[in-house]
Amino acid sequence: MMLRSAHLPLGFVVSPLLRCNTRLCSLVSLPAIAPLSQTDSAAVCPQKLLLCTPCPRSRGVFGAFRMSSGGRDSSPDVGAAPRPAVAPPAFQKPKICFCHSCGNPTKQVVPEGEEKIRAVCTACGKIHYENPKMVVGCLVEHNGKVLLCKRKIEPSYGLWTLPAGFLEIGESAAEGAARETLEEACAEVEILSPFAQLDIPCIGQSYIIFRARLKTPHFEPGPESLECALFSLEEIPFDSLAFSSIIVTLKMYIEDIKSGNLKFHYCTINKR
Ligand SMILES: [Zn+2]
Repeated sequence: MMLRSAHLPLGFVVSPLLRCNTRLCSLVSLPAIAPLSQTDSAAVCPQKLLLCTPCPRSRGVFGAFRMSSGGRDSSPDVGAAPRPAVAPPAFQKPKICFCHSCGNPTKQVVPEGEEKIRAVCTACGKIHYENPKMVVGCLVEHNGKVLLCKRKIEPSYGLWTLPAGFLEIGESAAEGAARETLEEACAEVEILSPFAQLDIPCIGQSYIIFRARLKTPHFEPGPESLECALFSLEEIPFDSLAFSSIIVTLKMYIEDIKSGNLKFHYCTINKR
C-alpha cells in the first residue's frame, strides 16, 4: 500500500449534521468501532474519512473548526432534517494585558497578515494567541449506573456533573480524565473508549468524555465534591445537572444504551 501525503480536513466537518433532541447542538456520530474503507474520493458516509492533499492557503492543522453548510452529505436522513444555523464565533477581546515574555503591557491590534484582534506586546512585539481550553472527563459505568459528583465549587455549586476538569500539560486526554475522576470522586478507573467530543466555541472550551469503569467499587467525594453517587439512567437528575455539555453527553449515552449501539459522538454546543 502506498501512502501519499495527506491530512485530515481540519477546518470543515463533512459528516452529516444531525439534530440533537436537546436543540442545543449539532452533532455527528460514528460507530464506536467503525471499519474504515480506504478511499481517495470525498467520503461522506459516517463510516469513512475524508482525506485531502494540503492546500497552500491552509492555516495548517491548527486552523479553526467550522461546521460545513455545504451539500456534500449523502446520508439519507440528512435530507429530512433542516440544517441548524451555525452562529459565527462571538467576538472576544483578548484578555492578556501583560506580555508573558517581558512583562510589558500589551495592546489590542490586528497583526499584519491576520484577521483577528490579538494582544501584542508594546515592547517586544510578541503576539499572544488565546486558544480554547480542553476539558476531559469520565462517564463511569457500574452495574448499569453512572457515577455523578455534586459540585462543591463554583460555578454550579450544588449541581451534579460527570467528573471532569481541565487537561494539564504533560498528560494525555485519557490520563487527565482518569485523574479528574480520582480527584473528584476518589475513584480509580480504567478508560474504556472515547465517548464524545463536545466543542463549545462561545466559551472557548472543548470537552472529551471517555467511557470508563471502576477498577474497584470504591468512590467517595473528593475536595471539590459534596457527594458522589451512582445513578441508574432513569434516576439521572436532569433538572440538577451543572452544564449543558453534561446534559448533552448523558442524553446521548441514554439513547445509545436504549438502542444497544454505543457510538462516538462529535457535537458542537452553541449555548453556554
Ligand atoms: Zn514583550
